[in-house]
Amino acid sequence: MQRIAIIGTGPTGLYTFAALINGRAPLAITLYEQGDQAGVGMPYDRHANHRAMLANIASIEIPPLTRTYLDWLRARTTSFLNDYGVDKAGLHERQFLPRILLGHYFRDQFLDLLAKAKERGHRVSVFEGCRVTDLAAGQEDLKIWTDRHTDPGDFDRAVIATGHVWPAPARDTPGYFPSPWSGLIGAAIPAGAVGVLGTSLSGIDAAMAVAVQHGRFHEQPDDPHNTLRFQRAAGSEALCITLMSRSGLLPEADFYCPIPHQPLHIATQENIGREIDAGPHGLLDRVFELIRREIRRADPAWSDSIALSTLNADTFAAAYFANRAQRNPFRWARRNLEEVERNKRNKHTVPWRYALLRLHEAVEDIAPHLSSNDRERFDAGLRRVFVDNYAAVPPESIRRLLALRAAGVIEVLEMGTDYRMRIGDNGTVITTVNGDHHFPVFIDARGQKALDLGDLPFPRLREQLLAHGDALPPVGDNYTLMVPQIGGHRIALAALPFLMHYRPFVQGIAVCAEIGQAIGETLHRGPRRQRHWLPDYER
Ligand SMILES: Cc1cc2nc3c(=O)[nH]c(=O)nc-3n(C[C@H](O)[C@H](O)[C@H](O)COP(=O)(O)OP(=O)(O)OC[C@H]3O[C@@H](n4cnc5c(N)ncnc54)[C@H](O)[C@@H]3O)c2cc1C
Repeated sequence: MQRIAIIGTGPTGLYTFAALINGRAPLAITLYEQGDQAGVGMPYDRHANHRAMLANIASIEIPPLTRTYLDWLRARTTSFLNDYGVDKAGLHERQFLPRILLGHYFRDQFLDLLAKAKERGHRVSVFEGCRVTDLAAGQEDLKIWTDRHTDPGDFDRAVIATGHVWPAPARDTPGYFPSPWSGLIGAAIPAGAVGVLGTSLSGIDAAMAVAVQHGRFHEQPDDPHNTLRFQRAAGSEALCITLMSRSGLLPEADFYCPIPHQPLHIATQENIGREIDAGPHGLLDRVFELIRREIRRADPAWSDSIALSTLNADTFAAAYFANRAQRNPFRWARRNLEEVERNKRNKHTVPWRYALLRLHEAVEDIAPHLSSNDRERFDAGLRRVFVDNYAAVPPESIRRLLALRAAGVIEVLEMGTDYRMRIGDNGTVITTVNGDHHFPVFIDARGQKALDLGDLPFPRLREQLLAHGDALPPVGDNYTLMVPQIGGHRIALAALPFLMHYRPFVQGIAVCAEIGQAIGETLHRGPRRQRHWLPDYER
């Protein structure tokens, strides 16, 4: 039996496990999870998240492991679902539900997979509350050290699926949280000025984690406009949460579209692949031409409205955001919410939004092949547009922001590009062209940062890889670490922050499933020809 270790059992580890046990060859699989329960994942873990935090993925988009999320939900009791504010009778496949509920689903799926693995003749060991501390690869095998075992374990292959990495809580600067996942959940936040850096998904999570300590959201059953209200608790009058970013834009609400996604016509994976093969010189501009033609084909009226024919890869983002940037963010949010709710009711798809959503998946392939100058241009322009489009938030999150706004609890600060941040003992000061803004409590909610090899938490493997001189992990497009000196293809690196250089949009459960599937296939069939992700100019 091949001995395979999976380090980390969030969605990526889980989908990898599922792909492995579906193969014919019986395997000896060992799963390591540092948390107390395997199979949950960081964003869905009840210890790390608040019940108010919503998933921005619905059952229809979650690749089933043994059964769909909706089937699992339908099999829960009414009172279990009520605990999460979910009405059993109203369940449907496009609902955005609390993330912790999704964590329960993944945990149950994990238990089902365990049973299935045993039935299929695999030998599975699970170590929970067990952190892998090191990993070293030789020519013939590899060794794994943990904080619970005296001797290292021997394996033939390993999959690193360790997921998100957040900074530790800042001990010397109380009131400063380097991420919403660095001690904020569970901390008592006083009613006062709270600064949140980042206005997207994580920023909204951080704002909700604070707001629910100081009041409650109330539905208004008799209100024809379906408005949500927020009522402050007595003594919380001084609470004011400021969401801030360079542009001061709020995200838009998730929009209706056909799922599975319909195929693209012009910027197809094949056509983009052809441009990649034609070489890095001018790649971004050539692919932008495909993007422009695809959007024009999908939505000529919108294309004319932003003068798409006059735009290029550098000017597209400004034109895309221009309208929103000129409006009050909360008024824009209200109008956008009304629009998406109407479109959901009427099952109407806005063609340009849908085109952008599908384009981000196809266009991502160019990232590792761009010259460093084009990569900077991509990150400053097109990347921001795609992220804004695919990271649309659940409409309920926008309702909550509007409720907080109506209660005078939240505001948005546009910092501009030229801002300074000073973190001190008495709080954090943000200095913009309009002056100083002081926050006794401050949360950096800019989301997961890309990491390089120097951040790899396994010292032996880190040294082995750094010895090859690259700062970025030498992975191929099936996630294998392609280093002959460490046994070639025996380690798969599927930890998202280390893949972000190559795949700037790598995140989300559907992507975890795709990664797990790719790794599973490679482990079953052996390595096939693959594209090295370290671009030529980096090698
Ligand atoms: C706050 C937040 C909300 C999100 N919400 C959504 C959403 O609604 N929908 C969506 O599609 N995507 C969402 N995402 C994207 C997210 O990236 C994926 O959904 C998914 O969680 C990634 O799975 P993963 O298994 O790669 O990583 P993780 O979920 O981070 O899981 C990694 C696991 O590895 C374990 N681990 C780490 N190091 C070790 C070690 N050394 N030894 C043993 N175990 C270890 C961790 O304890 C953890 O269980 C969200 C991300 C964040 C940060």
